[in-house]
Amino acid sequence: MTDTIFALATPPGRAAIAVVRISGPGTRAALDDVAGGAPKPRHAAHRRLRDPKNGEVIDDAIVLFFPAPQSFTGEDMAELQLHSGRAILAAIFATLSTRGGFRLAEPGEFTRRAFVNEKLDLTAAEAIADLVDAETGAQRRQALRQLEGEFGRRCEDWRARLIRAQAQLEAAIDFPEEDLPPELWAKARAELEALRDEIAAHLDDDHRGERLREGVVVAILGPPNAGKSSLMNALAKRDVAITSSIAGTTRDVIEVALDLGGYPVILADTAGLRDSADQIEEEGIRRARARAASADLRLIVLDASRPNEARAVEPHIDAKALIVANKMDLVSRKEADWADRLGASPASRLSLTTGAGLSALIERLGAAVAELLTAGAAPLVTRTRHRQALEACVAALDRFAGATLPELAAEDLRAAARSLGRITGRVDVEDMLDALFREFCIGK
Ligand code: GDP
Repeated sequence: MTDTIFALATPPGRAAIAVVRISGPGTRAALDDVAGGAPKPRHAAHRRLRDPKNGEVIDDAIVLFFPAPQSFTGEDMAELQLHSGRAILAAIFATLSTRGGFRLAEPGEFTRRAFVNEKLDLTAAEAIADLVDAETGAQRRQALRQLEGEFGRRCEDWRARLIRAQAQLEAAIDFPEEDLPPELWAKARAELEALRDEIAAHLDDDHRGERLREGVVVAILGPPNAGKSSLMNALAKRDVAITSSIAGTTRDVIEVALDLGGYPVILADTAGLRDSADQIEEEGIRRARARAASADLRLIVLDASRPNEARAVEPHIDAKALIVANKMDLVSRKEADWADRLGASPASRLSLTTGAGLSALIERLGAAVAELLTAGAAPLVTRTRHRQALEACVAALDRFAGATLPELAAEDLRAAARSLGRITGRVDVEDMLDALFREFCIGK
């Protein structure tokens, strides 16, 4: 990492301000040449930026200097706050790239340097990506919690306890003749068992963290023409699916992301469920069934005037299903009572034509989503990567508990500790770093 890297940290295009970030050993010299010297550390300075070759002024800018190690990357860093315009950025980039040892940063390279310089662990690096990607308030809060290191600290605490127990047991294995008190074995074993249960309990979270990160999937299901696409549009407040009075037009699964009271929801409209002779429609129905099976929640939309159509959706009704009796403008309240008997709770009455019942339905859906996602005090598992590592740790601890040969037991403990270390990036992670930091955009 002897290169000095630079990148535009703000979106390209015309705007009031663009931020160019620089990190690496050449930072200070670049400020000397381009900005008339490095400003006082961590103080904003108003400077004229010049092309050192001919002294021409490039822009009027605010310049910040963060000397190592007190910077985001841990290296010397500078931030140039310029006016955001194509010619200005082209000129500053041309000036920087002709400097020896300077080059454009790769995606995520600033954060990667921060990780390598132990400014943050991998869970915090991932949290930065999640924070930037957060689309709802709940996602933002979850990412901030992880950025503050709650989950990373917990993993490190587990690993420290594991390593302590491991050290005690390895002493016992190495010196069997030395009469290590049997209580020591028992104590270490009990500690490891408690640790295993704690991690397993942490995993038993109904995937709330991952759901919050990725969005709760709500599938809209129902017979053709019941009003599924109309409901999707009403919920999304824009035209995302084609509504039409010809049955069977929604032949694929259409998805739209929503912010429902701060919680992210992915709404999936599906082809009408009915027996069909049409091959393409059949494929749509197959996808609808698959999506419905994997969805976190199901909105079952029925035409209140057609009780006979309920049979086709009955297999999809379970505790996760909200029944919606639509087209209430066509029937009396009483005539829709049949829909109340389908699910665990009474059907929501709705008319998409008049709009009656829509806000009550949105409220009910919001409450169901919130219930799925509401977390306790513990930081949640937000990524499959974390879940897999924790699962591998629990599996290794289970093998340990069942192992009869001390040498094998010790290896199981080492594997368990390695799994935990992978989460924060303390052990052999080189192979996954590339994959992880590629997710980032340039300038982060
Ligand atoms: P889908 O096949 O389930 O997606 O149904 P659509 O949303 O395409 O709606 C089918 C037809 O029913 C369209 O002509 C809609 O205008 C009509 N429709 C939807 N909701 C209502 C409603 O509440 N009342 C009445 N009378 N018609 C509705």
